[in-house]
Amino acid sequence: MKRKPKSIDCKEFTRLMPLWLSDELKGRKAYQFLEHMDNCAECREELHIQFLVIEGTARLESAASFNLDEELDNKVRLYREKLNSSRILNGVIYTLEAISVAILVWVMSLVIATL
Ligand SMILES: [Zn+2]
Repeated sequence: MKRKPKSIDCKEFTRLMPLWLSDELKGRKAYQFLEHMDNCAECREELHIQFLVIEGTARLESAASFNLDEELDNKVRLYREKLNSSRILNGVIYTLEAISVAILVWVMSLVIATL
C-alpha cells in the first residue's frame, strides 16, 4: 500500500537525488523533491543512505567529529526555508508589477486627459 506521490515518482526522485545532494536542484523541482520525500518513506530512507555514503566518504580522512543525521535534517530545513523565501519574493515581485502597471495606467490616463 504505497502512497501515490502527487508530482514526481520514485524513479524521478532517485534521478534527482545526486542533484539535490550537491545543491544543484532548484525551484519547482526542489519543491517536488521535498514533497515526494515527505510522502514516501522508501525514498526518504534511500536519500538518507545516499547522504551518509556521499558525505561519509568525503570526510573519512577528516578528524573532526560529525553528526550526519543532524546534517541531513539541517540540509532539508535549509532547502525548505530557501523555497519559502523564494515564494515570498515571487509574491512581492508580483505585487510590485501590479502596482507599476496601475501607476502606468494612471499616468497614461492623465496624459490622455491633457491632450
Ligand atoms: Zn518514492
